[in-house]
Amino acid sequence: MSGRAAALAYFRGTHSERREFEAVLERHCTCGYPRCAVHEMAMTEQRALDGLLFVRRTLRPALLEGEFS
Ligand SMILES: [Zn+2]
Repeated sequence: MSGRAAALAYFRGTHSERREFEAVLERHCTCGYPRCAVHEMAMTEQRALDGLLFVRRTLRPALLEGEFS
């Protein structure tokens, strides 16, 4: 640990995307102490949150249409 507080990540999605993301977090959370890896990522990894939104918005429609099957 560097001794610096990690910057908090910001979820840049829409309100409905946020609700879906929170539901996913709840399903995969194993929180205790210290907080679980899922919550650690959600709170501190801006690139991960942005990447999740990118995949959801660009690849998910193609996956749901079976474009990759
Ligand atoms: Zn958790």
